[in-house]
Amino acid sequence: MKILEDRIRQDGTILPGNVLKVDNFLNHQVDPQLMDQLGTEFARQFADAGITKVLTVESSGIAPAVMTALHLGVPMIFARKHKSLTLTDHLYTAKVYSYTKQVNNDISIDRRFLDPNDKVLIIDDFLANGQAVQGLFDIARDAQIEVAGVGVVIEKRFQKGHQLVVDAGVPLVALASIAAFENGTVTFAQD
Ligand code: 5GP
Repeated sequence: MKILEDRIRQDGTILPGNVLKVDNFLNHQVDPQLMDQLGTEFARQFADAGITKVLTVESSGIAPAVMTALHLGVPMIFARKHKSLTLTDHLYTAKVYSYTKQVNNDISIDRRFLDPNDKVLIIDDFLANGQAVQGLFDIARDAQIEVAGVGVVIEKRFQKGHQLVVDAGVPLVALASIAAFENGTVTFAQD
């Protein structure tokens, strides 16, 4: 999506460890107009997939996920992060290793909000090694719901997450796909 690539070129900074900092429009300060455009595009691409709910993980996935849900006309659920969970009977839980914070989190969704008839779209801000998406896949499996797609605002194609989603046989939409960070600049994948 050109508008997103332009914004990344303009405002993104590359940090050590292949981390792209985009905290003036996505990860801290949020540009609502841009989020609306991203949500519109995800909704357009998944319009015929029969989505009943949008799933994400707090906190950075929430802004694009809620806009996508708005445009699909369905609810959005964000998995909550906890350091460690006890008393999990009413929760679906999964373990997720955080790429940026380098800690393990348990993520959880209340069982009341997922139903075996649901068909969900997973939305997140970044796809790196795919740990966050895998955690939501694990929850979907436990809840016996179908994952009809994964939409990420930015994927780093050179890391493992892209292949993980492809290998799972789930349709993947990345609105910006980064092929490499070279000499302090972002190179986008061509396709
Ligand atoms: P994964 O679970 O795919 O390894 O990493 C995805 C999660 O880590 C995202 O939800 C995002 O919060 C964070 N993340 C991964 N790579 C980056 C990055 O380059 N920049 C930022 N800001 N967050 C990232």
